[in-house]
Amino acid sequence: MPSTHESTSVSADPTELGTYLDAFKCAACGEDGGLLVSVDCLDWSSDFSCESCSGRVPRQVLQAVEDEIGEGLDFMNHHDDPELLEAALDLCLEKGLHSGHYLTLAVKKHLSYVYGRRPGFLLHQESHLHEADP
Ligand SMILES: [Zn+2]
Repeated sequence: MPSTHESTSVSADPTELGTYLDAFKCAACGEDGGLLVSVDCLDWSSDFSCESCSGRVPRQVLQAVEDEIGEGLDFMNHHDDPELLEAALDLCLEKGLHSGHYLTLAVKKHLSYVYGRRPGFLLHQESHLHEADP
């Protein structure tokens, strides 16, 4: 009888099919540098390594950043303030999260609901939508 306790699908691709849901920008490389992706994506605690300079960062360091940002995003459950959301998005990118990181995407998704609903943030009034390069 097959085991059913393994319900999550596991990808062996460190870029997660090019989505980089976990990826951070490499601080050592700078602005146009590489991305930090899991060395062994089947091992949750694996170090991350830069695709460009091969520099390594322990998973725990990145986890601490994610935890900090994640806690700061709790407000999204209660507030739809576009300015707060934009500040949160800036913070995500400042802290080195890739623009496709799942936390960055969560903020963008929330922003996408808010834009278009709030006066002053209706789509036809909005010309400064953040669009970060990958
Ligand atoms: Zn690097």
